[in-house]
Amino acid sequence: MKQTFITDAAAHVDQVVTMKGWVANIRSSGSIAFIQLRDGSGFMQAVIVKSDVDEASWELVNKVTQESSVALMGTISAHPKKEGVFELQVTSIELIHIAEEYPIGNKEHGPDFLMEHRHLWLRSKKQWAILRIRDVVETAINEYLHQEHFIRTDSPIFTPNACEGTTDLFPVPYFDLGEAFLSQSGQLYIEAAIGSVGRCYDFGPVFRAEKSVTKRHLTEFWMMDAEAAFVEHDENVGLQEGLVKHIVASCLKNCTKEFEILERDVTPLQAVVDKPFTRYTYTEAIEKLHELGSDIKFGEDLGNDDEGLLTKDSDVPVFIEKWPKNIKPFYMKIDPEDSAHVLNDDLIGIEGAGEIIGGSQREDNFDLLLERIREDGLDEKEYSWYTDLRKYGSVPHSGFGIGLERMVRWMSGVAHIRECIPFPRTVNRLKP
Ligand code: ATP
Repeated sequence: MKQTFITDAAAHVDQVVTMKGWVANIRSSGSIAFIQLRDGSGFMQAVIVKSDVDEASWELVNKVTQESSVALMGTISAHPKKEGVFELQVTSIELIHIAEEYPIGNKEHGPDFLMEHRHLWLRSKKQWAILRIRDVVETAINEYLHQEHFIRTDSPIFTPNACEGTTDLFPVPYFDLGEAFLSQSGQLYIEAAIGSVGRCYDFGPVFRAEKSVTKRHLTEFWMMDAEAAFVEHDENVGLQEGLVKHIVASCLKNCTKEFEILERDVTPLQAVVDKPFTRYTYTEAIEKLHELGSDIKFGEDLGNDDEGLLTKDSDVPVFIEKWPKNIKPFYMKIDPEDSAHVLNDDLIGIEGAGEIIGGSQREDNFDLLLERIREDGLDEKEYSWYTDLRKYGSVPHSGFGIGLERMVRWMSGVAHIRECIPFPRTVNRLKP
């Protein structure tokens, strides 16, 4: 019989179905047993009454272990009191595979043990919920961008040079051509692709060799870079705000049960959807930080504590725009009203989310771009294809990159980013 999914239970009440999945938990007392079944789409209680099942099935009740895989045949019933809760009244059980003693039990395990068992830990309810939130965030990003006329083009992972200099890059031997580097960002490539399709984005893994051991840094993470022709700084900031609002609204709409599992209080998220985000220039942000007691110096990058301080009393994310030119990469366009600053922005999420997005208007003038490349001591020959883009119908254009796991961490409310990607790569972890 065709498999019925737990998530579709409401449509099959009083019907005879087959459900397939894993035994998350089993308990029995005398002549009745309860299996907590999980099938990937959800969790559901299956009730096995000795007198209602054949002998072979009842024997299995005493045999199946946690994480054994089974097919359960029976009738779906709606919980008499709890709306949206269903049970399977089992008539027969088929054992697919009996699991050995499962290493992850109900007792508390330390993070190292759980990370070493990541391949199994993924099955636990909280990890399941985070994986599903990740999928909703990804889907929402794709939806919003298509709605705004972006198409997905994607960029290469092997690159001959860095987007922002050669530090923090992972080198890879590349046949007779010497060394390649794993991409840190596909931005430069999608800047080329806008010449073809106008608005586009890539969405894939990027790699940073920086040795940041924090709760917000992975060495391999997924980034969505968007780029749009004819879009200038203000419109770029507006697109980012629209995107974040869409992601948050989508999570609020689609992740109710996941938030419940994670015990995530979503009250603060509604304001993110309803209210306009705050915008500070970098200069205003530094002044504000001084008022709040930070000793950050003008011209320094904001640290984690500064980001926290700036958003502590805010119920909406905060844009920090127009940073000093000398701490930002060569491709950012200089503010025509203030040549010491560039037309860029960082978006800081609330609830300790930290930096979620980095964006900028790009320098579209050939001579100015070349000057910035030279000033930064970069090899202009390496970038000739990129500067070429400013020779043939150059247009004002802007873009931004959002870190998927940073967004998932914020939405799911978990402390550490390593839980926001199925198999995290950090400075200290490469396995499993
Ligand atoms: P940070 O200052 O937090 O290290 P960054 O300024 O280096 O970040 P960008 O180069 O602007 O970040 O990258 C764009 C986005 O990618 C960031 O806003 C963030 O969401 C995400 N991101 C950057 N570095 C990491 C990382 N090591 N792990 C996870 N996500 C990251």
